[in-house]
Amino acid sequence: MTIEEMKARKQALGLTNQDIATLTGVPLGTVQKVFAGITTSPRYGTVLALEKILGDDNVLMQTAPDEESAKESIREDLKRELVMYAKLMDEKGLVNTMEGNLSIYDRAHDFLYITPSGTRKSLLDESMIAVMHGDRQIDGTLKRSSEYLLHLAALKNRPDANAVAHLHAPYLTAYAYCGKSIKVNCSTTFALLFEEIPCLPYGMPGTVRIAEGIDEAIAEHDLILLGNHGAVAVGADIEYAVSLVEAAEEVLKIYSYAKQIGDVVDIDPDDLEELMEKHPSSRRNRMRRRFN
Ligand SMILES: [Zn+2]
Repeated sequence: MTIEEMKARKQALGLTNQDIATLTGVPLGTVQKVFAGITTSPRYGTVLALEKILGDDNVLMQTAPDEESAKESIREDLKRELVMYAKLMDEKGLVNTMEGNLSIYDRAHDFLYITPSGTRKSLLDESMIAVMHGDRQIDGTLKRSSEYLLHLAALKNRPDANAVAHLHAPYLTAYAYCGKSIKVNCSTTFALLFEEIPCLPYGMPGTVRIAEGIDEAIAEHDLILLGNHGAVAVGADIEYAVSLVEAAEEVLKIYSYAKQIGDVVDIDPDDLEELMEKHPSSRRNRMRRRFN
């Protein structure tokens, strides 16, 4: 089934993005992006899950669960997703026991799902995920990360985002220790995804000060650095937010190797400018689409 056929089928069945996310287990942010045409080549697993539901003539019989059980199933899905990504980030050395946290925001119900404070991510299970409603923790056996204020500040300034990855990724954090914004002109990946990764001044962790100044930076950039601290990325879903950090880490790792080999050759500024201006997935074109 092509995406166009899926769109037609979705319309014919009268299904919402939320219905499809609930039925398929595909994150809502991903479903939204596929049907809004932002993701033009979704991952194979996503396509299979969507086809299975949209090709099923009995699907409508499954779309009227009572509201409470629908909410419960969303809660469980989001917790499972968060645990999975927290463990992956731990495996990749991008978070540790004391540092780094991930969150997913259910905007419709104003519930922030966030990893707990001071817990080894590889030992997390769904029951430990803290669920915040405003400043109140309403679920989870462990205390929410003290950095939830940072996550809320980022989400407030990015209505298009439903997930935040605050990671202490080594290469990014090394720049944050130097208080340096990042602009790498030798990599097309970097130019397309980021153009620049700005670094904010130091703010005390666990207080509102850590989120100071985040507003403008996060409104313009999907990934930013917090001085002397770490990185913050936002995305329509958690997969996108963590992918940005992984991509930046990879570029910076190779950049650091390249500098040991010799003089790094920058791409011609005019060529870079043309790429960032014309490529549909460039940061500036993604930002333009957000406001149109
Ligand atoms: Zn931190």
